Amino acid sequence: MPRLSEVIAALDALWPPSRAEQWDAVGTVCGEPDAEVTRVLFAVDPVQEIVDEAVELGADLLVTHHPLYLRGTTTVEAGTFKGRVVHTLIKNDIALHVAHTNADTADPGVSDALAGALDLRVTGPLVPDPTDPAGRRGLGRICELDHPETLREFAARAASRLPSTAQGIRAAGDPDALIRTVAVSGGSGDSLFEQVRAAGVDAFLTADLRHHPASEARERSPLALVDAAHWATEWPWCEQAAAQLDAISERRGWGLRTHVSRTVTDPWTAHAPSVTSPSTSGAPN
Ligand SMILES: [Zn+2]
Repeated sequence: MPRLSEVIAALDALWPPSRAEQWDAVGTVCGEPDAEVTRVLFAVDPVQEIVDEAVELGADLLVTHHPLYLRGTTTVEAGTFKGRVVHTLIKNDIALHVAHTNADTADPGVSDALAGALDLRVTGPLVPDPTDPAGRRGLGRICELDHPETLREFAARAASRLPSTAQGIRAAGDPDALIRTVAVSGGSGDSLFEQVRAAGVDAFLTADLRHHPASEARERSPLALVDAAHWATEWPWCEQAAAQLDAISERRGWGLRTHVSRTVTDPWTAHAPSVTSPSTSGAPN
């Protein structure tokens, strides 16, 4: 059985903490370095529901994409929801480790997993990491489809390949426009419009697109937008990460059991399709 410190060292080699953004909070949140690790659970969000799942599973290590504490704290009192998470983890001897922006820009990273889920061929990073001489690391990915699809078909592909959420898939653009090249970015992507336009792709698949950036992007170019739930765009990374740790475990004879949480932790839980146009909705008269 490997020690937690050995497993963390292997994870840090996949996603070096030094490559995280300065504002980010990655690495080990809690855990005993000398504790033995048998079961590892991968999930997007370190929320109570996931921690309870880790307890039920008998996991020794929970690896999440999102940090528990991004901005620091002065308390882990169990009456706070994050404090409750910390207490549950420590009482059950479960370590928590976070790989966030260091996993986004890794090779393979979060957007490779997103591209893989849709069977897209990655041609390179959308925002290359200047410190990578091979040019393989960076934020987002530029991809090609194996055959052109209409925006309608491509949105349907995203809806069928990504895990199901209440939001589903939103698209902006001519539904019959042909899509050959796509920029993808797991998580919130509307800060990347400039790079997406420069890449000259037909569509941009990401999450959390806001009204103004999306509206401006549509006015400036025929770029089609495909917006999925934030959680859904990052969940494929959990499977990719678990497979990476499985390969390491096999090589080193660790015998780790890895699991990927299927719990949907996207905060949006319901969706009501609109049925009225502006002329028929609103206050009477
Ligand atoms: Zn995210």
